[in-house]
Amino acid sequence: MQRIAIDMDEVIAEFSTKHLELFNRTFNEQVTMEELHGKKLRDLRPELAHEIFELILMPDFFRDLNPIPHSQEVIKELSESYEIFIATAAMEVPTSFTAKYEWLKEHFGFLNEMNFVFCGDKSIIRADYLIDDNTRHFKGFEGQSILFTANHNKNETGYVRVNDWLEVRDYFKGLAR
Ligand SMILES: [Mg+2]
Repeated sequence: MQRIAIDMDEVIAEFSTKHLELFNRTFNEQVTMEELHGKKLRDLRPELAHEIFELILMPDFFRDLNPIPHSQEVIKELSESYEIFIATAAMEVPTSFTAKYEWLKEHFGFLNEMNFVFCGDKSIIRADYLIDDNTRHFKGFEGQSILFTANHNKNETGYVRVNDWLEVRDYFKGLAR
């Protein structure tokens, strides 16, 4: 079976909606999703970069994120023909481990938890496909990179891109033909 490695934040977990809401509430700001087109929050407010990062250090930040639409059903389908690994650079936020693990058990409980990979540098991942919203994880990845559209990466070119999970389904259906 071929392997598909799948990122968590912004790919199966709606990270940026909660982060932006929390940022606006904490700093009494009114930044909109539209302003984040092609940018991360820290690019928009570099003077608050440290505080923006600190918002996600609360141990439960990652516990109640919404699953990205259709991620569960499509991954369940794909798991019949591919070996699925969830690969998250959780070392970037070590306080997130427990919340991320519990979140995966709640929303992706049909996957074998031995296929949850909490890592730092994703170049250690060996898989046939990597679905991620951060292009830096594609450097050193030897399989096929698939860029999952997020606000911050909308201007990046030169990658196989999918805009949502229905397009992921179509991509893999196209390969099977
Ligand atoms: Mg991500």
